[in-house]
Amino acid sequence: MSNATPATHSPTALRPDRPFPTVGVIGAGVMGTGIAQNLAATGRRAVVLDVTDEILANARTVLRTNLRAMALFGAERCDTDQAMSRVDLVTDVEALADVDFVVENVTEEWAVKREVYPRLDAVCRPDVVFAVNTSAIPITRVGSVTSRPDRVIGMHFMNPVPAKPVVELIRGVHTSEQTIETAQAFLASIGKEGIVVNDSPGFVSNRVLMLTINEAIFLVQDRVAEPAEVDRIFRTCLEHRMGPLETADMIGLDTILKSIEVLHDAFGDDKYRPAPLLRQMVDAGYLGRKRGQGFHHYR
Ligand code: NAD
Repeated sequence: MSNATPATHSPTALRPDRPFPTVGVIGAGVMGTGIAQNLAATGRRAVVLDVTDEILANARTVLRTNLRAMALFGAERCDTDQAMSRVDLVTDVEALADVDFVVENVTEEWAVKREVYPRLDAVCRPDVVFAVNTSAIPITRVGSVTSRPDRVIGMHFMNPVPAKPVVELIRGVHTSEQTIETAQAFLASIGKEGIVVNDSPGFVSNRVLMLTINEAIFLVQDRVAEPAEVDRIFRTCLEHRMGPLETADMIGLDTILKSIEVLHDAFGDDKYRPAPLLRQMVDAGYLGRKRGQGFHHYR
């Protein structure tokens, strides 16, 4: 698609002149692949870390498919092969020694996230900012397991990442003003903007969204309505672009359950108790779009 354009003008050519030329992306799941796609499409190198070669092979397939779709239908021209050549998929944390910024997107579980940060801390330059992509885990808690709590910030991307221009930026107790500026500059460099809020479990968006989704699941469990009707009411009567159960399927039902558990634990308030049907669906492996089956079926 971009063959007629000199490489230096292509959005997919590596641009060391741009800020944050190399970015560490931790976790190659739904969010990690979306962020790597965004980085590669804007001419940055993404070093993507996950735990197994199998997961990384799957991420490579997802990335290539989505970059190709971007090349065909996206607003920006995007050469798939060039963009893919900017993505390093790795299992060794040492590969992050030279990154200029880190976005962490591992599983929404404190026990998993807390293991990652001391390892990043030991490898990354001391000036590098760690952006925590989480649905609900408090940013101050993440900062407490690093030696750089002033350079830790919440960066709650929306899904699908390449399509969503606005991000919730979360200021932990120790997050410095300079880190907020750096995070905004990073977001601007990939065509996004951050709305800054203070640290609290679930921040603004998920404190409201997770309750809505959980209540919608209770409606299905109580046989008040089928998933299709619940979603249709939100789309047609309330003019939402997606219903709450479609949104849950897109996020991943395992991530929804973990997020609600984090809110329940953090606030000690039973309004956040997870719907038993949600637990059952996760046990059954019906995790939403990523598994082809959730409240709706996907081909
Ligand atoms: P996911 O389950 O799709 O992917 C998580 C990935 O992290 C997996 O590939 C897993 O193998 C990897 N991982 C686990 N431990 C690791 C480690 N020690 N080192 C490297 N990788 C490791 O989850 P996701 O949906 O991509 O969510 C990631 C984070 O982003 C979560 O904290 C989630 O709450 C948050 N988030 C998700 C969404 C969404 O819509 N899915 C939106 C905003 C934020």
